[in-house]
Amino acid sequence: MYLDEETYEEIKGEVAHYLVQCGMSYPLNADEFARRMEIKFIPYSELGNDAYIEAMRTSRDGFLCEKNCSYTYIFFNDERMKERQDMSLLHEIGHQVLDHNSTPNKSDDVKEAEAKFFAKYAKAPMPLIHLLPIVTTDTIQKAFGLSREAAKYALDNYQKWLKRFNGTYTDYEQKILSLKRDGLNAYIEELKIQKNRHSVRYQLMERQKHNLNLARKSRGQVVSLQGYKSAIVQRNLYEIQQITKFGGVM
Ligand SMILES: [Zn+2]
Repeated sequence: MYLDEETYEEIKGEVAHYLVQCGMSYPLNADEFARRMEIKFIPYSELGNDAYIEAMRTSRDGFLCEKNCSYTYIFFNDERMKERQDMSLLHEIGHQVLDHNSTPNKSDDVKEAEAKFFAKYAKAPMPLIHLLPIVTTDTIQKAFGLSREAAKYALDNYQKWLKRFNGTYTDYEQKILSLKRDGLNAYIEELKIQKNRHSVRYQLMERQKHNLNLARKSRGQVVSLQGYKSAIVQRNLYEIQQITKFGGVM
């Protein structure tokens, strides 16, 4: 389900606001984010049998539960892959931040789409993807700790973002760029070295090609001393002359 452009912008603004407020860094630690948002989270594995069955019936990933005004609880399935658990946590934080429990006029589909987008954007925001020296599904996946599927989605969105990007960042993008990113920077350095190595190998290949061309050219020059135009014709004629000189048959 697609939301309108204005809603996407609002959600990105909310993501940036809460990330800054909680002093988060990249790669984003979803557990820590929930903790700093003062959301209590309870893994399914800590639930008793009946509660576990009830929780699984509610959602295989996780759900949000506002018991009272002072605390929000996120129940999440900790048997899922880590990437998926992170997304579930962020998804539930999204429901909380976007005030979905007190907006009865929004349909469940809209709320779900909003929370999903919140999670995906928080995990891999476009201005941070833009810092990667090599942007592929693979590098996005590694840099931000995403599943393959989520990384493909992020790459797709990044390419769309890049088409619109004119070198200036929005306010919320600047906020995101102001966050600490020690872990991400370490990976960026690794990618820089990798990219450099690639370009050195590329330059070497170019040099070899160039040398080969030089060799070909100089061979041509020797032959062209005999006054012929095409190097290939020259060589053929030269060989023919050699053969006939030694009594070969044409
Ligand atoms: Zn949801």
